[in-house]
Order: sequence, then structure tokens, then C-alpha cells
Amino acid sequence: AATVAGLAGAFADSVLGATVQAMYRCRVCGSETERAAHCGPPAELVRGLRMMTNDLVNLCASVFAGLLATGLGLWFGG
Ligand SMILES: [Zn+2]
Repeated sequence: AATVAGLAGAFADSVLGATVQAMYRCRVCGSETERAAHCGPPAELVRGLRMMTNDLVNLCASVFAGLLATGLGLWFGG
């Protein structure tokens, strides 16, 4: 169960990262970044939700994996 949950957590992390996680484009150097500021000034939000930082995405994925591990443990462990 722990292995499956770990894989699911990594999967959730990448899916959330590709969908709701805030991604910014630096107004100075033009590169995409997860940070709200780059090269000094605030970067421009290009996709995702401003509140969904990389830390929050990681947290959600961890909680999801934890719940899944618990659920699988109850399901298979009786
Ligand atoms: Zn920059």
C-alpha cells in the first residue's frame, strides 16, 4: 500500500503541478518560474492559481498519498 500511495502521490504532484500550480513568467529575463518574483520585480502569472504554490501542491500530494495509504491499508489489511 505504501508503494502504491507513494506512486500516486508523485503522480498527483505532477498533475497538480501541471494544472493548478501557479506558474509565472519573469518580466525581466522571460523565463518561466514557480516563484512570484524573479530577477527582482514581481513576475507575471501565466497559468494556475496564485494561491497554489509549489509547497501547497507538495502538501496536497502528501495528504492525498497519506489518505490513500490509510484507505488501502484498511481495504487490504482488514
Ligand atoms: Zn528572471
